[in-house]
Amino acid sequence: MGINELLRRIFLVDLFRGLKLTFSYQRPSAIYTEQYPLERPPVAERYRGAPRLNNHPESGETLCIACNLCSIACPENLIVVGWARTEDRKKRLTTFTYDLSRCMFCGLCEDACPVDALELTQDFEIAHYSREGMIWDRAALEEGPQPTRYTR
Ligand code: SF4
Ligand code: SF4
Repeated sequence: MGINELLRRIFLVDLFRGLKLTFSYQRPSAIYTEQYPLERPPVAERYRGAPRLNNHPESGETLCIACNLCSIACPENLIVVGWARTEDRKKRLTTFTYDLSRCMFCGLCEDACPVDALELTQDFEIAHYSREGMIWDRAALEEGPQPTRYTR
């Protein structure tokens, strides 16, 4: 071992070099950690997340005409549309079930909907503690995802 190497080891040169590199990344402009959930990360414009069954913005009536096309389009057969005939022989939506646990978010159901009633929103917080909680009924779908908003 040469004298230079010996001095380097005695004065912990490598350790201080490492520390210098580490602390050079402590400045705020070099921090890449996302402060989630305080700050929600932006998602891609075409991201497909939690589903929502849209209502008419003024009347509040469902936009869904119970045509069942979304259910037919779904390769996983996870959408069940319930309907009944009104007195004037029109189809009326009664129930709507969407099993999120089996969904692969391909968007085929959304594309098949002729009236834009079914929409895959940009909400990504769909984890749940039970399989049953992943099955959304009509009320949950109409209410849409309700993510908890955390504040500093
Ligand atoms: S996104 Fe795809 S898998 Fe999920 S319900 Fe729609 S069609 Fe089915
Ligand atoms: S959500 Fe759209 S495609 Fe599905 S039953 Fe309703 S209107 Fe038809």
